[in-house]
Amino acid sequence: MVDRTGNRTVDDAVARVIDGERLDRRDALALLAQPVEDLAPAADYVRAYYGDDTVDACSIVNAKAGNCAEDCGFCAQSVHFDTGIDNYGFLGPEEILEAAKRAERDGAQRFGIVVAEKGVSKEKRPDEWDEVIQAIRLVRDETDVEVDASLGILTEEEAEILADEGINHYNHNIETSPNYFPEVVSTHEFEDRVKTLERAKAAGMDLCAGVILGMGEAPTDRVDAALALRDIGVSSLPVNILNPVEGTPMGEDGTADISTEEIIETIAVYRLLHPEARVRLTGGREVNLDADEQHLPFEAGADGMLTGDYLTTEGQSPGDDIEVVERAGLEPNTDQNEFDPEAVKARSSDDGAAVETAAGSATSNASEPNATDD
Ligand code: SF4
Repeated sequence: MVDRTGNRTVDDAVARVIDGERLDRRDALALLAQPVEDLAPAADYVRAYYGDDTVDACSIVNAKAGNCAEDCGFCAQSVHFDTGIDNYGFLGPEEILEAAKRAERDGAQRFGIVVAEKGVSKEKRPDEWDEVIQAIRLVRDETDVEVDASLGILTEEEAEILADEGINHYNHNIETSPNYFPEVVSTHEFEDRVKTLERAKAAGMDLCAGVILGMGEAPTDRVDAALALRDIGVSSLPVNILNPVEGTPMGEDGTADISTEEIIETIAVYRLLHPEARVRLTGGREVNLDADEQHLPFEAGADGMLTGDYLTTEGQSPGDDIEVVERAGLEPNTDQNEFDPEAVKARSSDDGAAVETAAGSATSNASEPNATDD
């Protein structure tokens, strides 16, 4: 039985999605123009119908930071921009394992190994490739978290190796619509990203691919990006909100070009276009949404999040993330990694007190990246 909002456009769309119909571009644009108070409960209904009441948390490690030759206009790690981030070479497998264990302790179900570059090349940098493989094996064998990877552009051979090593989700964001992509990146093409996703899928990995909102794109670009992701076939759809990095072309204004209402509406429409995917709120959520707004996307169809630190900056505490989830009337997923949410909240609160006592406040890098931007 479909809950009725009284808004005919929204109610008809929900009924069709529940019937298994795919909404098209025209439907999505019409939905985006509807009031958020109608869209949000409709998307929440669809989330509950196709899924459950859990929010899935993943966590990442930035396994190699900075000096990337690409020029993605939002990215703190591009060599083209002077952002002052901490550049470092590939972390050893043991260090990555430690990060995975911390993520597991904090309730992550999935752990992504992220490398900042166009692609970790087995042919051009075999030593680095071997270290990535060793890290994957260590995390796979010594934790209960699902191991994911975000290593940039892949060849067919590389995709097959990663699938054989047990990588579940391959992350490679498309960032925005095909039309707007050249406004954001000039050193590679939208199609390069799509081809990597297709190779990862053909090799047997599930796909985690998403967008960054607030980069100056039009609402039509937001819809077109979601439709492109549906054509590709993603099971996890990360939604970053631009966290402008000083020194990058998108850092000048200091704010993302999107309102809270538009964020919630976009999440709701993404849920209706991707009824069975995990719509995952990732980088930029703490800086673009006030503390008392953070739960709202989870009342509008979101059912996943990135917890812990982002690529070059700190996120909020895992305990705070759990409180956001619970405020939305949902609960943390424990399918892959059973943990006690109350213990995580208590530990986060103790850690916060310790930091306040020792240092006055938690440290934070001045340059903000977006969370899963490879
Ligand atoms: S988003 Fe990835 S490919 Fe683009 S500049 Fe940043 S690290 Fe390089």
